Amino acid sequence: MRKQVDVRFYAELNDFLAPWRRGGATPYAFEVSGSIKDMIETLGVPHTEVDLILVNSEPEDFTYRLRNGDRISVYPVFESIDISALVRCRPQPLRESRFVADTHLGRLVRYLRMLGFDTKYRDDTQDEELATISSKERRILLTRDRGLLKRNVVTRGYCVRATNSREQLEEVLQRFDLSGAIAPFSRCVHCNSLLRPTQKDLISDRLPPKTEQYYEEFHVCPGCERIYWKGSQYRRMQRFMEELLERE
Ligand SMILES: [Zn+2]
Repeated sequence: MRKQVDVRFYAELNDFLAPWRRGGATPYAFEVSGSIKDMIETLGVPHTEVDLILVNSEPEDFTYRLRNGDRISVYPVFESIDISALVRCRPQPLRESRFVADTHLGRLVRYLRMLGFDTKYRDDTQDEELATISSKERRILLTRDRGLLKRNVVTRGYCVRATNSREQLEEVLQRFDLSGAIAPFSRCVHCNSLLRPTQKDLISDRLPPKTEQYYEEFHVCPGCERIYWKGSQYRRMQRFMEELLERE
């Protein structure tokens, strides 16, 4: 016998749905009762985007098996509504500000590192490896590839919607509520290592002559040995960040 549930997705989860399913409850028909996780992903929503599921007004987790006539509500990670009294789908909230990014997000990665966020990235990482890093190191997997987020091993992930890298940065800051956690110029944008202060005389032979003359404060990257100082690039980054935070 054919069975059916009614399902409604909330807020930005609607971005993933076929247009006719957006914004209200719609029927989902099935013959063999599968898990609620399968249903959610069949409808196009990566399970990593989901933070709370209510079935007939009771919280359930991803393993719940559909029953004929269920009324299902699926919610994304909440930013402002307090649902701590309810049971979430996973023991810890998704928001942790460590990331691993897929190979198409190189510019976003530089921005995140510039703001101090620990972001793992190599331009040749395979999907399977990304999923493993995300799971083992508890990093939020950033990608525009929904298929990657559907892998079972991935419990922390976010599908970046914007295509422009600055907009992607704003999107990620907003989504994970990161504006209070920004630590600018603390991390190497090339290799993700934390920068260390260094004395000028230790590195002066590696500096352009004018730089040595005009600047006193230097940092060095222990990973790739690059030297950082507050020159024109620093000022450009600072302006960019000020603009960004004004818009927040
Ligand atoms: Zn470095």
